[in-house]
Amino acid sequence: MEIPALPLPGSDELHQLVTNAETRVVYEVLYETRDEPLDMIEIRDRVTLRTGSANEHTGRRLRDLRTHFDVEVVPTPGVRTRPRYVLQGWHPEADNRTRRITVTGSLRARTFHNYGNRCAQCGRTPKDDGIRLEVDHKIPLELGGDNELENLQLLCNQCNNEKQALFGDHAGDAAAIKAAINQENVHLRIGELLKAMAGKEVSIDLLNLVAQDENRGDPTRRLRDLRALGWTIDVSRRKEGKRTMSYYTLTGWQPWPAEGPRAAVNALEAERKRRKKTKDQGSGEGGL
Ligand SMILES: [Zn+2]
Repeated sequence: MEIPALPLPGSDELHQLVTNAETRVVYEVLYETRDEPLDMIEIRDRVTLRTGSANEHTGRRLRDLRTHFDVEVVPTPGVRTRPRYVLQGWHPEADNRTRRITVTGSLRARTFHNYGNRCAQCGRTPKDDGIRLEVDHKIPLELGGDNELENLQLLCNQCNNEKQALFGDHAGDAAAIKAAINQENVHLRIGELLKAMAGKEVSIDLLNLVAQDENRGDPTRRLRDLRALGWTIDVSRRKEGKRTMSYYTLTGWQPWPAEGPRAAVNALEAERKRRKKTKDQGSGEGGL
């Protein structure tokens, strides 16, 4: 089979198709080993060598690539459990066959189990509150989300409607939201959203939605981190009905630190503590 010119590793074309840096590294490895394909363990080893950290998500990254790329699984003679992965071709438009696959019964059941039959947003349950629960895609399919368990959550119909309405309000910003929401960590998701909104006000609700943070509900901590990295973000608070709504506007930003935002913030924090300790001890020795 002839391979139509695949995007080159490191190209802009690839960057646009694959927003996640680690997924791009997986692509790079597959690209380079088309003639001598590797099995999953070998792929993971190569990825780990290049990213400098252990990569338990390599399998998932490889699945993500299938949105745009045909990756064929070929058996290794004599070792049935270790098939090899061959990059065969690609299609610039996302593959709708993989997109349309609905959430299977077992994934639904696991989502209900994981969320304890409770709305992830408001915490209400059908038993106590008479609400109806729906399986929701944290990152919507049309914004690049998938049907993996990690992307599924339970929402009550009311919270789900509010979420849909919020996306509806921001239909014109879909490209900005998509680019931000698929970034690999929460600082990048928040920072890239603010940048992409180009000085416009961003509500706390939209920030929350795009942040996909494990520490639900408080992206303000992440904003504090960005400020520590030299970003300037204005905040304005307005009463809307019963709620006081916060809006954030980016007025200045810094390039992302090479070691990643979280490591950079931790280093700043450690430095601050060290200085404080040295000062408290009144000695120049410092150290731990
Ligand atoms: Zn709810």
